[in-house]
Amino acid sequence: MEKLLERIDEFVEERDWGQFHTNNNLAKSIVLEANELLEHFQFSAKGDNDEQGVKDELADVMTYCLMMCIENGYDPIELINLKLDKNAAKYPVDKARGSNKKYNKL
Ligand SMILES: [Mg+2]
Repeated sequence: MEKLLERIDEFVEERDWGQFHTNNNLAKSIVLEANELLEHFQFSAKGDNDEQGVKDELADVMTYCLMMCIENGYDPIELINLKLDKNAAKYPVDKARGSNKKYNKL
């Protein structure tokens, strides 16, 4: 993970794009890329056949998420682990297993 974060940081630094990486812009970019991902499934009941296109957009979403972590000095692994801990408490296995209900409806 650390090498990946360094590579992303270097990519941004080389292009002097850090100046554009406010939380506002990065949050918007995450949503925009998520919509590009969703576009692959528009009007498709079975999913998308353009697997590479899906992978590319998924990578874009994750890259912007990691850029936001870099800009804010967040450790992405720590963030995800902490959120998984919260979700595990909200969705105990004995109540949530096999259910798609929201935690307050379990
Ligand atoms: Mg994209």
